[in-house]
Amino acid sequence: MHGNEPCGGEALGRIASAFENRELEPAKGTIFLIHANLEATSQGRRNTPKGDDLNRLWDFGFAETLRQEAWGYEHHRVLELREVLGDLDIFLDLHSAATPTPPFGVSNGEASIDDIAKQVGISFLVQSWYGLADKVIIGFLKLAGVPALSVECGSHGDPEIVETAHGIAMNFLRATGAIEDGTKTNGNEVRTVHVVETITKPSDEFGFGCPWQGFQQLEPGTLVGRDRVTEIRVSRPCYAVLPNEDVEVGHDVIYLAVDT
Ligand SMILES: [Zn+2]
Repeated sequence: MHGNEPCGGEALGRIASAFENRELEPAKGTIFLIHANLEATSQGRRNTPKGDDLNRLWDFGFAETLRQEAWGYEHHRVLELREVLGDLDIFLDLHSAATPTPPFGVSNGEASIDDIAKQVGISFLVQSWYGLADKVIIGFLKLAGVPALSVECGSHGDPEIVETAHGIAMNFLRATGAIEDGTKTNGNEVRTVHVVETITKPSDEFGFGCPWQGFQQLEPGTLVGRDRVTEIRVSRPCYAVLPNEDVEVGHDVIYLAVDT
């Protein structure tokens, strides 16, 4: 989905090889292994310079507001993917983060997805993500009635990240019954949370109060970050989600989640 997050593509490559070598057989249905953003992956960027974030285009608003000559790779790609994805029975998408995080999932709340999500090997399951719902792929799939899960597998820099992404994808195939290889899925305790706040970077001077890590717990009064005029503190216990200081002004710098 994001070209600077190669773990998903590499995990899918390993699974595709296992099917080709007959080490793995589909037990039922048809399994689609889709590398969503080939162009950004070849460039090692989140999205192509002329295009846009492929996981923020799923409300297709650009088709009305942006003339076609100004579209980049991702604008064309999201329309191609829409043709395939709306007909799926169930869906998983794989990401990695800028800073260390325990693996966590984001559910679109359709039918059986939460039960399956709890078997893939995540520590946290986000049940709702305030403000993002209609722009991300799992939001589009919710409208199409397709149970869908996005997983952040860990940080880009984690040497085990491909291993983690592969394990999560394999557990998803097992939990859905798409493969039966005799291996049990993950039975870890999974904590359910809601993302209730999105903080965007107010200025170039903005910096975090601490170098936050994913799902670090913040107590009331904790200084999330500040610039010369603004101080952001939390007023209730919450978790830091996808903290990333290294974004442009106006882009999301951290999300805050609370227990359900
Ligand atoms: Zn991503």
